[in-house]
This record gives sequence, structure tokens and C-alpha cells, in this order.
Amino acid sequence: MVKAVVGANWGDEGKGKITDMLAEEADIIVRFQGGANAGHTIVNNYGKFALHTLPSGVFYGHTTSVIGNGVALNIPLLINEIKSITDRNVPMPKILVSERCQIVMPYHISFDQYEEERLGGKSFGSTKSGIAPFYSDKYAKIGFQVSELFAEKELKEKLVRVCETKNVLLEHLYHKPTMNPDELFETMMDYREKIAPYVCDVSAFLDQALKDGKTVLLEGQLGTLKDPDHGIYPMVTSSSTLAAYGAIGAGIPPYEIKQVITVCKAYSSAVGAGAFVSELFGDEADELRRRGGDGGEFGATTGRPRRVGWFDCVASKYGCRLQGTTDVAFTVLDVLGYLDEIPVCVGYEIDGEVTTDFPVTYKLEKAKPVFKKLPGWKCGTRGIRKYEELPENCRKYVEYIEEQIGYPITMVSNGPGREDIIYRESPLKK
Ligand code: GDP
Repeated sequence: MVKAVVGANWGDEGKGKITDMLAEEADIIVRFQGGANAGHTIVNNYGKFALHTLPSGVFYGHTTSVIGNGVALNIPLLINEIKSITDRNVPMPKILVSERCQIVMPYHISFDQYEEERLGGKSFGSTKSGIAPFYSDKYAKIGFQVSELFAEKELKEKLVRVCETKNVLLEHLYHKPTMNPDELFETMMDYREKIAPYVCDVSAFLDQALKDGKTVLLEGQLGTLKDPDHGIYPMVTSSSTLAAYGAIGAGIPPYEIKQVITVCKAYSSAVGAGAFVSELFGDEADELRRRGGDGGEFGATTGRPRRVGWFDCVASKYGCRLQGTTDVAFTVLDVLGYLDEIPVCVGYEIDGEVTTDFPVTYKLEKAKPVFKKLPGWKCGTRGIRKYEELPENCRKYVEYIEEQIGYPITMVSNGPGREDIIYRESPLKK
């Protein structure tokens, strides 16, 4: 049985916490896309951790953590990440890396930086982790699979070819030092030594695991609105953030994915540039940012302050639809307890017309939010474990949003810890 945990919005919805929580009952947790450009924050018995490449199940002794072929693998960062958790007394996790996973090369990171510098004010707000150059090379068929580290002769030849084209750009477009294929080869041999203990045929491993009746969690990075096809192109990430891509990025049949848990935060937040219709500014934004998440809304990888706004029903309904949501996990609800009333974005006004359908980017840029104000509940809700025990206005908030987005909210998260979760029967659940 395969379950996917994915985001409905711009990322940072709390997928890490939900995955960590569901991992208790799972055997295998798979990262299937993205790279070390974003992070998941997890709070558990060992402390607070920001994970970038490792799946959020690494803290349990019983799980296997898998880096699927769809991931952008930064080998030194993965090794450091493993060390950073074992240094803090987490037992050495069982980790498998797909032999078909491609490697973030040192020059992908440099090219990411050089391109952002070149674009100046017109940049994409990249985290400069090399993700866009990595996926460009993957689809231009000049990327390197982990398996290629083990075929030295072919690797050497390919490095020479790749350096030829990259060096033209380095010299003439970016005016930066050129690369030497022999030095790159040495780096690759170092990468090989580091990654070799983990490499395997992940797809075959998962096939057997599914035959043996194991439970597999697919852990998505970012959310629907950052998907290169269905998101706010071009302010998107470079790999698909949708549950459907989980089948490809892990190497399993699509029909094995039986449950899609889409994580939605009780208000909105986004890192990086791009349209954000229900965005808040000024003091109201500062207050929500300061109170938000677990210790403020700041990026897990970059530390950048996140943009914040009210819950956006238009974006979330669309975000849930594209994921193929079977369950919504509604997170960080505890943070909203300070507000007298809580605006919710229920429509977009575009050229004088109101719509509840999420539009393409040029129309989205013109959209103005239509808000409905719901009464607040003015108290803390942490520690509550039963839905009926939440304040009435808090339940009304959840139920109003569920009705607007049209997907069943079956989990409500009211704190960062594993145990801070309320399961709920939804009228929308068939
Ligand atoms: P992800 O990328 O989707 O995993 O999200 P992040 O981990 O970047 O951001 C979510 C933040 O919210 C983290 O700091 C979590 O510890 C925190 N968090 C998750 N669920 C809850 C919740 O229900 N309440 C509160 N207060 N914080 C939460």
C-alpha cells in the first residue's frame, strides 16, 4: 500500500511533520523529487531537525529511507545530513539511494549562482542549490546518474564532453574560471566512495516490498503551486511536486498509490517570488510571521523570512484537485488563536469578475483577493486531541474551509509535535 504526502500550496505546509507522524505505521519512506533546496522541519524526541534530502522517516528504527530516482542528489550534503542526525544520537538510519538518481554536480551550484547574478533584478529567487541547472541537464541528457560513477572510462569521456560546452558558457557568458575534467573526475571518485554503501535498484526493492505487503510513504517537497506544469510558471521549481510524479520518481506503478494526503496550512506562506494573491503586508504580516509555524515563518534551508497571508480557498481547492487528494491534513491551526476575526480568501477578482477557479499566471498577476471574515476563537488549542473539544469557532473555520475546497479534512494538526494531531470524520469522505 502506497500513500503520498504532498503539499497543496507553495510548500512549507507541514509535510515533514505529517510524514514523520505517519512513518510510525510505515515501513519505507521515499523522497521522489526535488533536492536540498527546501527543507522539512521535524520536532521529535531527539530534538528539532531541518531535513533537506533525507525523508522524514529517518528517526524511526523500523523504517527504510529511500532517495528515489526523481531526486536531485547532492552527495556531500546527504553525507553531512546523515552525520548531523547521528551526531545528535539518532541511530544510523537504513538508507537506500537509487542507482538511477542523478547527481547535483559542483558546477550546477555555480551555474545557479552565476545565472541569478546575471539576471539581477529579473532573477527567479533561486535558493542557488543548483536545482534548475541540474534538471536542465537531466532533460538535455547530459546529467550523470549515480550508476555512471561505476563506469570509469565512460565517465571520463563524458566529463570531457560536458566540460567543453560548459566552459564556453563559463568563459563567454559568465566570465568565470573554466573547469578541468580531470579535477571533476577526482571529485566524482570521492562521491562514489561516499555514496557506494547506499546504492541499489530502488524500483526493484519497492516492487518486492509491495508484494510483501509493506506500507510505503511517498514524501513530496514543495506543493502544487510550485509544479512546473500546473504551478505559477515560471516561478516554480524544476521537478513535479505532484503525487502522480511519485510513481515515476520512485519507480512504482501509478495504481499503487491508494491514498493522497494533501497538506494545507491554516493560513498561507510562501518563500521566493511569484504571485501570492492573499498576501499580507506590514504589521499584520509581521505578527503572523512571528507567531507562525514553530518559532516563526523562516525558510528551513535558507532562513529567509517567508511571505505570509490568509488562507486561500481558490489556490488550495486547485492545489488539492491536482494532487488527487483523498485526505487533507490541515496544519498549524493552533497559531491562529490570537485573532479576533480571520479573513479567508474565497475568490479572485480579475478584470472586474470574481472567480473561484485558479487561473494561468498572467491572469493570476492581476487577481485581487475577495475575503470573507470568520470569527476567531481567541484561545490556545494545543493539547486538544478530540475534534469536538476544539472551540466552536475553530471547528467552524475548519468546516467552512472544507466546504470551500471540497476535499475532506480528516486530520487537523494543532502543534509541531508528532502527537499534536486530531483525526476527524469528514462528511466529504465517502
Ligand atoms: P514542510 O516543508 O511542508 O515540511 O514544512 P516546514 O517543515 O518547512 O514548515 C512547517 C513548520 O511548521 C515547521 O516549523 C513545523 O515544525 C511547524 N508545524 C507543523 N505542523 C504544525 C502545527 O500544527 N502547529 C505549529 N505551530 N507548527 C507546526
